[in-house]
Amino acid sequence: TVNYLALDDRGRMASAVSTSGWAFKWPGRAGDSPVIGAGNYCDARVGAAACTGFGELSLRTQLASRCVGFLEAGATCEEAAVRAIELVNRLQVDPAERIMHIVVLDRDGNHAAASTRAGTTYAWRDGSQPHCQLSPRTHVPPEG
Ligand code: ASP
Repeated sequence: TVNYLALDDRGRMASAVSTSGWAFKWPGRAGDSPVIGAGNYCDARVGAAACTGFGELSLRTQLASRCVGFLEAGATCEEAAVRAIELVNRLQVDPAERIMHIVVLDRDGNHAAASTRAGTTYAWRDGSQPHCQLSPRTHVPPEG
């Protein structure tokens, strides 16, 4: 899945996802990407979030909308992303299937990302430069 979060110079925001979904696909499975609130969510008054990974985890937690809810309640993008992955880490799930990444953008243009996996990155661009830059996603390992 590819996640896109955007904020333009007039304050308009959008979230979008493009998923293959195929690697985890059961017949008839839609996955999290087309489910607003699970795989992606945007409220231009607050911010936007989007997910990649095992979609069952973001479906079970309504992860993107809850992440934006954390922003709304006053969290920074970093805090909101970390809290979202903590929700995933509290699910009972086969450890091999605990793979989730989330990226967050607030309406001031701040952004962050977090993941259940170490060593991952996300790409971003702010319009001041022609190319994307890579930043690390914060690794949030399960406790215990
Ligand atoms: N989230 C997608 C799904 O579960 C898969 C992916 O992120 O690649 O359908």
